[in-house]
Amino acid sequence: MSGVRPTGRAHLGNYFGAFSNWVALSREYETYLEIADYHALTTAFERTGDIAPGIHDVALDILASGIDPERCVLYVQSALPEIAEMHLLLSMIVPVAWLQRTPTFKDQIAALGGEIATYGFLGYPLMQLVDIAIVRATAVPVGRDQLSHIELGREIVRRFNHLFGPTLVEPEALLSAFPDVPGTDGRKMSKSYGNAIDIADDDAVTTKKIRSMLTDPQKIRRHDPGNPDICPVFKLHHVVNAERVPVIREECSTGALGCVDCKSECAERLNAVMKPVRDRRASIDPAGVARVLRDGAERARSVARSTLADVKAAISI
Ligand code: SF4
Repeated sequence: MSGVRPTGRAHLGNYFGAFSNWVALSREYETYLEIADYHALTTAFERTGDIAPGIHDVALDILASGIDPERCVLYVQSALPEIAEMHLLLSMIVPVAWLQRTPTFKDQIAALGGEIATYGFLGYPLMQLVDIAIVRATAVPVGRDQLSHIELGREIVRRFNHLFGPTLVEPEALLSAFPDVPGTDGRKMSKSYGNAIDIADDDAVTTKKIRSMLTDPQKIRRHDPGNPDICPVFKLHHVVNAERVPVIREECSTGALGCVDCKSECAERLNAVMKPVRDRRASIDPAGVARVLRDGAERARSVARSTLADVKAAISI
């Protein structure tokens, strides 16, 4: 089980960091993929108008990435009201201190400001656990930095099962190596930084964005030696052009390679890697996306209903 917020058009960080991994895992596991619109409300409660179009666009990008909706269950979180009900029931047994100690809680408040420190935001790791537990997921792909969330989820499950008898499944973290995808300004690629290259960008837009990328500021003329280790374009080569990385390192360091040529090669490789995804995106009927989400919600709801019934029976409510 995994999920994404309805952020609108997804970018290469989403693709290389999540969607392509989901495609690989879905060949091995029964897979549930959730578009987490309740989660979007925890930080975007003043911009709710973006959520509905964001759902459509991110679903389109997930399908374009190669997710087969016959094999995977793709659904919108709020289409399963059972999640909200189970969240309320579990909230009765989760100590506030457990939620407050989540590393991301304080970090996010520091980054986004105190006004997001709402009741709902505090409870969002619990909602994540409910997302997982309600479809009885056994494995969740996460990076090392998210292990604490899974551990918290496991603790909540253990507490519930201890209080009410064995009911919920303890999920395991499926530790995945996520590539570090730099944005055009060298920071992590993120929509909110305005440094993203979107999955849906065409070749020309992608090339233009890569041409605008920052490089080693000391490499001013073509034959100046550069330091690839501080260059975001070099990081992007690692993601899409791994076999050429040693040569590029050597040629950049010695001044044999200029930034214009280096960027052109990066853009060419990236466009070649993304071509099947972009072709698939162009061939998807937008009206079909809503159908896929409706069908996914029905399939997910049948599991969710049964889990919620078990939870209520365990609590005797
Ligand atoms: S040659 Fe390539 S790796 Fe070196 S600084 Fe320029 S863009 Fe970066």
